Amino acid sequence: MKIVIQKFGGTSVEDAAAMARAVEIVREHGITRRSRPLVALSACAGVTNVLIRISELALKETTKESLAAIDQLEVRHARIARELISDDTAFANVHHTLHGLWEELRTLARGVNLLGELTLKSRDQMHSLGERASSTIFHAALAERLQEDTITCHLFDARDFFITSNEFTSARPMTGEIHRRMKRVRSALAKGAVGVTQGFIGRTFAGETTTIGRGGSDFSAAIMGVALNAREIQIWTDVAGIMTCDPRIAPQARTIERISFHEASELAFFGAKVLHPETIWPAVEKSIPVRVLSSKEPEKEGTVIVHQTEETRAMTGIAVKKSISLVRISANGLQPNPAVQQTVWDALGKSGAIPLAVSLSVDGASYAFGDAGAIPLLRAACEGLATLALGTNRSLITLVGPGLQTQSGIAARMFRALGRTNCEMISYGGSESAISLVVQDDVANRVVKKLHAEFFE
Ligand code: ADP
Ligand code: ASP
Ligand code: MG
Repeated sequence: MKIVIQKFGGTSVEDAAAMARAVEIVREHGITRRSRPLVALSACAGVTNVLIRISELALKETTKESLAAIDQLEVRHARIARELISDDTAFANVHHTLHGLWEELRTLARGVNLLGELTLKSRDQMHSLGERASSTIFHAALAERLQEDTITCHLFDARDFFITSNEFTSARPMTGEIHRRMKRVRSALAKGAVGVTQGFIGRTFAGETTTIGRGGSDFSAAIMGVALNAREIQIWTDVAGIMTCDPRIAPQARTIERISFHEASELAFFGAKVLHPETIWPAVEKSIPVRVLSSKEPEKEGTVIVHQTEETRAMTGIAVKKSISLVRISANGLQPNPAVQQTVWDALGKSGAIPLAVSLSVDGASYAFGDAGAIPLLRAACEGLATLALGTNRSLITLVGPGLQTQSGIAARMFRALGRTNCEMISYGGSESAISLVVQDDVANRVVKKLHAEFFE
């Protein structure tokens, strides 16, 4: 029996209708005569954010606020379960299990409040509840549906096999141990069963619950796919694959059918957040095809991410990163001052921040940062040596394509699309396959639409 990993993101399990669609996708795109799926689930859309808020509320406020938010989560999940599961006994079991999970969360919230301390370890225990709840409901719904096909469905607690380091909130998977422990999953699937488990969560050797970082379910799916030597990894999301642009910004965006790992990585680095390609690297490296598909339009082909594509195209897509900061550092005095550059890069090295784009001039330089965390450190480092001007609410728009520099006329077309819009920074040449510009947030969508029309429509 071949194994297929099917990962469903938050929006693909956000409510009863979405879960019902996902159940059908498992039946139609996961189960075949010769393959069985292991389904890796995210929490229902928005739940991880709520859990983070609950843990922080528990620390700052009285427990009343966090307990009220937990009640709402309990109601939301109970409703989904009731709509999906028709058998009363099965529903009662799920209801009981879910209640146990929310009780666990209440106990944790009270503990945090009482101690006045929110450790990363307690955060992880609290944040794990979203995936544990969604998988409990999904497993029951899928098991009920698969009874008709006389296929059994197992719920595997990922924490029994997904062993990680103890770097809570961004724990590293211990792949060797995961491979060993997943033998049990493999043999169940080999006998014809379907598996359901959680993405994002794991456990240390010492038995403490961990999470592997925001959006980590894609990473979980890749690691599980490699451990089980899967035929394919399917990432089910709310768009039909990786597209030429975020379709929320440019509705004319179209699906890129085949994309190399490198192209996908560049798009993601510059803001196309459909998935973090580095998280699927373990699978791509082992030549396991990773397919990004839409749970809303499952019949569409989606995108396959491969090690390398055969063809080289000029343009792959346009990525956008909003709410970035633009920092301009000018030396005091109009002389080129190497000491300033040295100071800036030393400070950046210390903070671990990597600018998304850099542009140099005689008396200074501009840096675009996705995360403003390094700015106070930069400011302190430049004190007395250079002036730092900070621009916020900016957007970085990046054209990505492996043949950008070999195709003539790209820059001219880019400026044509930009028209009279004020562009505050351009970065070109840092990589052979990306050109970035910085504009004000409020004009970004308009510029992106124009660029998309120019290059893709
Ligand atoms: P999930 O919850 O399934 O993990 P995400 O929200 O992480 O899904 O990613 C899907 C979203 O990524 C889409 O709704 C879309 O708005 C956004 N997105 C940004 N850039 C792109 C792009 N180039 N192609 C497709 N989607 C994109
Ligand atoms: N639920 C987690 C998050 O929202 C993990 C994931 O969905 O990939 O970050
Ligand atoms: Mg995601």
